[in-house]
Amino acid sequence: MKPIAIVTDIEGTTSSIRFVKDILFVYAEQFLPDFIRKHKEERDVARQLRSLSDNTGIPLKNTEALIEQLRRWMREDNKSTELKALQGMVWEMGYQRGEYQAHIYPDVPDKLREWLDAGINLYVYSSGSEKAQRLFFRYSVFGDLRLMFAGYFDTSIGPKKEVQSYRNLAEWIALPPEDILFLSDVEAELDAAAAVGIKTVWVVRPQETGADVTKLKSRHPIVSSFADIRIEEL
Ligand SMILES: [Mg+2]
Repeated sequence: MKPIAIVTDIEGTTSSIRFVKDILFVYAEQFLPDFIRKHKEERDVARQLRSLSDNTGIPLKNTEALIEQLRRWMREDNKSTELKALQGMVWEMGYQRGEYQAHIYPDVPDKLREWLDAGINLYVYSSGSEKAQRLFFRYSVFGDLRLMFAGYFDTSIGPKKEVQSYRNLAEWIALPPEDILFLSDVEAELDAAAAVGIKTVWVVRPQETGADVTKLKSRHPIVSSFADIRIEEL
């Protein structure tokens, strides 16, 4: 039976991991401090700084110490809510200024369009915040792709390697798991999805891993491009 909904990961699946690591994270490291100094009185920024101050005990008026905390978290890749929210604001600024566009592999948009034409609903499930996901597809190298997706899920439904997260996902999409197909570059995420009965395809981008796809073995079907995904054969 063909899936009725397809859920895709972003990093390593629709898009290069390098874009996020080498462009987005580097940009945030560079511009977050000045962004905070400049906008700390504005409502959205002020709210995050207040919450950061409450959670760490750093006095709200000590802007530089708050910035230092955020920089430490960025180095440690700590995904605190405040850091994620503030990073999202800085990334939005970068996208709007045209500093970069989100990377999408060229085989992706055509396939998404083909699935939409076949009446399939598309969703995203990624560890980036929902806001960051929307920005990503809004400012992509293929233009604004946001409307292709019926919904965006982040780790507020659960961590990506946990089985319960995929139960939650199916519940949100309101379909039986076997009507859903999940695409990811991480086998452990696919294992968790398959454990609840969701169909899976392992997307292994040779551009990312240098892996020889023909030599990989897995319980999940393996492709190196969206063009090779045949939903009628799953
Ligand atoms: Mg991934």
